[in-house]
Amino acid sequence: MTDFDAKTERLQFQTEAKQILEMMIYSVYSHREIFLRELISNASDALDKLRLEAIRNPDFAAGHEPKIRIDRDEKDRILSISDNGIGMTREEIVEFLGTIARSGTREFLERVKEQPEQNMAEMLIGRFGVGFYSSFMVADRVVLVTRRAGTSDVWRFESTGDGTYTIERADAPGAFGALPGGFGTTVELHLKPENEETGMEDYVSEWTIREIVRKYSDFVSCPIEMSVTSEKDGKTVAEDVVLNSMKAIWTRPESEVSDEEYSEFYRHLSHDTNPPLRRILFSAEGATEFRGLVFIPSKAPGDLFFRERESGISLYIKRIFIMSGCTDIVPGFLRFLHGVIDSEDLPLNISREILQNDPKLRIMRRSLVRRVFASLKKLRDENRDTFGAFWKEFGAVLKEGIVQEPDVREQILDLCLWRSTKDDGLTTLDEYISRMPEGQEGIYYLTGRDCDALRSSPHLEAFLAGGKEVLLLCDPVDDLVMPMTFEYKEKKLLSVSREGVTPSGSEKKEDEASRSEREATLRPLIDAAKTVLSKVVRDVRVSDRLTSSPSCLVSDPNALSPQMERMFREMGQAVPPTKRILELNAAHPLVTKLNERLDGMEASEKDSLLGLLYDQALLAEGVVPERLQDLASGVAKLMQGYLERPGTGVTEANER
Ligand code: ADP
Ligand code: MG
Repeated sequence: MTDFDAKTERLQFQTEAKQILEMMIYSVYSHREIFLRELISNASDALDKLRLEAIRNPDFAAGHEPKIRIDRDEKDRILSISDNGIGMTREEIVEFLGTIARSGTREFLERVKEQPEQNMAEMLIGRFGVGFYSSFMVADRVVLVTRRAGTSDVWRFESTGDGTYTIERADAPGAFGALPGGFGTTVELHLKPENEETGMEDYVSEWTIREIVRKYSDFVSCPIEMSVTSEKDGKTVAEDVVLNSMKAIWTRPESEVSDEEYSEFYRHLSHDTNPPLRRILFSAEGATEFRGLVFIPSKAPGDLFFRERESGISLYIKRIFIMSGCTDIVPGFLRFLHGVIDSEDLPLNISREILQNDPKLRIMRRSLVRRVFASLKKLRDENRDTFGAFWKEFGAVLKEGIVQEPDVREQILDLCLWRSTKDDGLTTLDEYISRMPEGQEGIYYLTGRDCDALRSSPHLEAFLAGGKEVLLLCDPVDDLVMPMTFEYKEKKLLSVSREGVTPSGSEKKEDEASRSEREATLRPLIDAAKTVLSKVVRDVRVSDRLTSSPSCLVSDPNALSPQMERMFREMGQAVPPTKRILELNAAHPLVTKLNERLDGMEASEKDSLLGLLYDQALLAEGVVPERLQDLASGVAKLMQGYLERPGTGVTEANER
């Protein structure tokens, strides 16, 4: 026997849990009734978990009828919610009810403190699924009695929400003894007094409970039973009634289901308080028969970019829940969806491994992806603003699919919205193409971290001067995606910071004579720069793309972009530095003067000036040079030299 046997232990709630409890107790949240939804949802989760364990442990399923039960004690104002689901061990009570393990809780609590009290509870319930704690909005004492399936101990948890709770053994199975199975959980709420002002209703009243269950939990797939009394032949008789219709919402015709019911179901699946942006209801017959109900959220959750994040899609087989977080049925770039796919013809006891390779699953996956694209496309065409809001939340995730799933690359590119040099709004590729002047080689783009900085990048100069539109891509994911994306609708995608991409394109090749002439003039500078900068540049050339900047750096068509290089380094990977090509503007006075004066310079002066020329090319595209000290001392020296010159030099500069 364990040492905590036969005695009552008092434990502390973990700090974050305590804070959340306090918020619940003092909240003036106007929808207190949601506590019941939360407790029913926990009961329903517990039944789902039992069913999953029963696959390995058939004993759990023998003679088991999943059930949720509500009992009301009107005299003592006690409401209890029982289930014959998985139950909890003592350790699980401490882990699941005594602590909140979700990452980001502390930061969230800090932020939420500034909110008006009413929002606090709402934000909490939505964002962190603090479901169980919501009991304390309506009860001043909560008792939970539970037995974990497969164990013999019954545990009793009790708390008044004062920061501590007690755990002790219980021998009486409590209300859940009324349920078959011998295991499960009862949550007993000792209700606060009714209070109209604070919205504390009479939660032991039969009609109040009926209404709340119908409103929030009608689709729960096992019966929610409650005892009611009625008058029959002058006598009062008690009978059990089932409060929910249990109808899987995705099997009902869309015309018969209200938006509120859909939203409630979405919320049940996602724990998200915001209403969904869009719902997609679909079915298929043929090689395999299935139905789906999928929601696109309106707001991205905080953990969208966590690598281990599961999908939000649950798999059902013939209305029976099989698994949540099903990743095989939905591609990673749609991991923000929530919903249900219900198959008519997969075998019920299918194992995960077999399921993964089932061709039916692939058909369902493809169909789901197709429906989502169709829905998003429709949204884009019918309501660009709403689509823009969607894009802001989920565009970056969707773009991952461009490389992950070549089959749908073109469809994703079709949906993408980009910034552009054209104006401040967002444009699609099709819109860009429709504006493309005759003969333009392809779709021009430039990637970087900061869109405003991109607008003044030297790489754009000649394109802007030539009236060409360039897309400005500043999502970190763009750097991963674009180098692997070569065309869209047979139009090439061309980075303007790449070698050989110039506004005149391939047709109007510069006349070679004038080029070699310019190159011959700049020969001293080109040769000196090649030698001095040999560690960082691959070549030095005369540029066709610059109008006002003295120089810029361009990459090899196949090399990593500097942003990508930096990203890999930040991830701790050793990447050999890619040498780029330094392009010089032969018409720029800085370049021509430097070229003329090189001859009489000392080696150290030459090194320093050429180093600065390189650094300023980096700075102009928003990249921080590596040897910042050299840059700082070089600039200081220049300033000093400038100030030591006779006169201020300002007039001289203006004369240019
Ligand atoms: P969530 O449901 O979002 O995990 P809750 O606060 O509602 O958060 O519940 C916390 C945890 O307590 C659940 O994840 C579950 O493990 C456990 N739990 C709550 N109620 C029950 C129950 N009726 N049966 C078994 N476990 C439960
Ligand atoms: Mg819950």
